[in-house]
Amino acid sequence: MTTFNDIITNAQLLRAIGDLGFTEPTEIQVQTIPPGLEGQDLIGQAKTGSGKTLAFGVPLLAKLTPERRSQALILAPTRELCQQIAVELGKLAKHSDVKIASVFGGVAMNPQIAALRDSQVVVATPGRLLDHLERGTFRTESVHFLVFDEADRMFDMGFLKDMERIVRRVPKERQTLLFSATMPDAIKRLASQYQRNPIHVKTHSHIEHSLLPQSFYRTDMGGKFSLLVHLLKKEDPNLAIVFCKTKHGAKALARNLARLGFEADAMQGNLSQSQRDRVMADFKAGKIRFLVATDVAARGLDVKHVTHVFNYNISTVPEDYIHRIGRTARAGAAGKAITLVEPAEERLWRDILRLPNISALEQRAEHVERIAFEKHGREQGGRRGQPQARTPRPQAAGRPPMSHGARGQEMHSQQRPSGNRPPARRSGGRPGGRGRRFQR
Ligand code: ADP
Ligand code: MG
Repeated sequence: MTTFNDIITNAQLLRAIGDLGFTEPTEIQVQTIPPGLEGQDLIGQAKTGSGKTLAFGVPLLAKLTPERRSQALILAPTRELCQQIAVELGKLAKHSDVKIASVFGGVAMNPQIAALRDSQVVVATPGRLLDHLERGTFRTESVHFLVFDEADRMFDMGFLKDMERIVRRVPKERQTLLFSATMPDAIKRLASQYQRNPIHVKTHSHIEHSLLPQSFYRTDMGGKFSLLVHLLKKEDPNLAIVFCKTKHGAKALARNLARLGFEADAMQGNLSQSQRDRVMADFKAGKIRFLVATDVAARGLDVKHVTHVFNYNISTVPEDYIHRIGRTARAGAAGKAITLVEPAEERLWRDILRLPNISALEQRAEHVERIAFEKHGREQGGRRGQPQARTPRPQAAGRPPMSHGARGQEMHSQQRPSGNRPPARRSGGRPGGRGRRFQR
């Protein structure tokens, strides 16, 4: 068995890893940290939740000099992932004197400008970083370490132009690392133009069915919401993410679930950054149990105790399915992925089932109660999303999830969501409670 001591000599990093309680490196860490430390360009491909952040974090931090200039740049597709990477690297760097800036849109420029002045590590989304480049508030001359996290996403059409503009400004004398769970060949070829003789390290990257069983249900469009409600009650997740196609769809679905008493909220790109932060914080703390999200939450996010991922709408890019379901069953934990397929989505679903090593078992639901889906929620007069009954909260993050049996009992004895009866209209709503959440 390889230990962290076998592959890392830097004492501060070893101490920080010990503090995190990690006893042994994961396979991708064993295979990419040594070449990374030697200065090798590489593509690291390993399944979701296998510790890729630490795999690039260790060589990156080991190579910093005390000079207070931007030396390492990490590009990632979403604001939440930037924040998460910066936090993770901060934990790894806690015994070293390293300053890390995270740079993304939707928040004020000035604090970022201040942070960019003396940070050695910059974690950024491409759009906002370009703003800083153009204003001259981010300088690339000293950057010698470049990471693309969720690399295949970074090099697809949506980001490519911005990425090219950024990379052109980064000195050629650098080390360039790409990490992702998925790496289609076309993207790999394209991305390798930005690297020097990269090695492709691919570990046992397929999903373990014992840890992450996948199933699917066929449904007609009209019965989809009822089926979801049925499954949420049956499965009784600790924390679940429900993926939708559109921002509007996510918002409407969260509102409808909240109406029935589910502690649900939407995470989508139309929210302000402070709203996005609040929703994520509430989800991590277990204040909401059902995060209804667009693909903005599909990549990279690491939230403990997510036991279920539901695909309410199917992802249009097949690989995104792998990333979505990878929000559960992370770092050795177990989880479940359940997909609802309506007739118009059959073709997309077939494309997903053609991906290597993907298989899902078809299931059928019996006795599904019909529940109306309200397209335009009752949002007037500050009585929004009033739940009929509170569903039990999951354990706060950091504690082990309750067993399903234990929580199931609670659920059935007193707090079962309401089936298809109209929601009880409590006067005044819940003071300071969830009713507020939809007034944003
Ligand atoms: P990936 O980027 O591969 O999806 P992350 O880097 O987000 O995975 O890591 C997933 C989780 O595993 C994180 O909570 C991280 O702290 C944890 N982790 C990373 N390395 C180890 C390790 N060697 N042992 C145990 N847990 C680890
Ligand atoms: Mg990751």
